[in-house]
Amino acid sequence: MSSKTVLILGGGWGGLTTAHHLRSLLSPEHRVVVVERNDRFSLHVSNLWLMTGERKDPEQVSRPMTNLKREGIEWAHAQAQQLDPESRTLVTDHGQMIGDYVVIALGAELAPDSVPGFEEATYNLYETEGAARLQEALKDFAGGKIVVLVGGAPFRCPAAPYEAAMLTESLIRSREVQDDWEVSLYTPEAHPMAVAGPAVGEALEAMLAERGVGYFPEHAVTSVDVDSHTIHFGDTVVPYDLLIGVPPHRAPKLAIDSGLVDETGYIPVHPQTLKILKDPNTLETQFPNVYAIGDVTSVRLLNSMLLPKAGVFAEGQAQAVAGAIAADIAGQPLPHGFDGDGFCYVEVGDGMAAYGAGDFYAFPGPRVTLDMPNPQSRKAKEEYERLLDLWFEN
Ligand SMILES: Cc1cc2nc3c(=O)[nH]c(=O)nc-3n(C[C@H](O)[C@H](O)[C@H](O)COP(=O)(O)OP(=O)(O)OC[C@H]3O[C@@H](n4cnc5c(N)ncnc54)[C@H](O)[C@@H]3O)c2cc1C
Repeated sequence: MSSKTVLILGGGWGGLTTAHHLRSLLSPEHRVVVVERNDRFSLHVSNLWLMTGERKDPEQVSRPMTNLKREGIEWAHAQAQQLDPESRTLVTDHGQMIGDYVVIALGAELAPDSVPGFEEATYNLYETEGAARLQEALKDFAGGKIVVLVGGAPFRCPAAPYEAAMLTESLIRSREVQDDWEVSLYTPEAHPMAVAGPAVGEALEAMLAERGVGYFPEHAVTSVDVDSHTIHFGDTVVPYDLLIGVPPHRAPKLAIDSGLVDETGYIPVHPQTLKILKDPNTLETQFPNVYAIGDVTSVRLLNSMLLPKAGVFAEGQAQAVAGAIAADIAGQPLPHGFDGDGFCYVEVGDGMAAYGAGDFYAFPGPRVTLDMPNPQSRKAKEEYERLLDLWFEN
């Protein structure tokens, strides 16, 4: 059997899961190459704990890419610039590479610059450094109006802004800040975690209300004025003292420049195989041996909504794609594809989280349940951080 090369674009949650699984499935003559521009992997789940001070600094929740543990995963430290999906040729700032298989796992890009004033005014919860700066700002907070501002949808981890609001409320309450203070959340969404169905949305709204967190759905920010400390939603103007930002997201430039995105703004893929769709109506795919997984993709569900952007989905898709590539190389029948199952832990503060889980591929729409918050689920959420030990030497 001739040696094959699998090129994985992006060494985030989905890319590293793919690499790890492939390496365990393939014999050593086959190459597994991860093209990643950053020299550290950061686990963004832990940003919320950076914000609260439960994790000290960015170093604690990130690892150098040079410390990848599993032998035989090659890291190409490069910026992927252009992909020809027909020939599977990748152009990077360090030259050209060709893969027998290509897995696009570039995630979604943050675009705080797309709303005037957003970048200057907000603490960026979605970046490790921003979350660490937010930790300091919350320590110094002596009263006033804290706003969690969602800059656009879709965004990664549909629960994260809600968790940020409830964790902040819990944190400030525990500090017994003397002056008046309040926490509120403004988002363009109509309901929290709408894709999970109305019962989950209502449960989350009730959790916010119980904690006195103001909830303002259907508020699409148009600009932020850093001098007057005001957020503008068209004609509606809202003051703030401390602004926690979830920036707007967009597809990475490579996906756009390579002509792979559709009207969803992301790469449309087949729900089970993660191959790129040619026709979303018939689910006909194109570009044999090219896959896309995780936040860079759009997966249309049976209720016409899109699969949320979350690490658990990137991970499940990565496992499915690794299995498919390994089977193809070995000339074996293809294993089952991705099944659409997912879960999350919604933190509500006071050391508690609510566990939510379900089948997102169910008909006529996702079947998702959300348990009552409890300390065990908060503890269980820390399991995510084991990825750092699984993939990296300390
Ligand atoms: C605050 C917060 C909390 C979250 N909590 C949860 C949670 O509890 N549960 C959950 O399931 N998910 C959670 N998520 C979401 C989760 O982090 C993402 O959905 C997940 O990381 C997506 O994986 P991915 O591989 O698609 O993209 P990413 O992990 O974003 O990886 C993409 C990688 O591609 C690299 N890249 C991009 N462009 C290029 C280029 N041109 N060249 C080379 N490299 C490039 C990037 O540097 C990055 O390393 C959370 C996210 C945030 C921000």
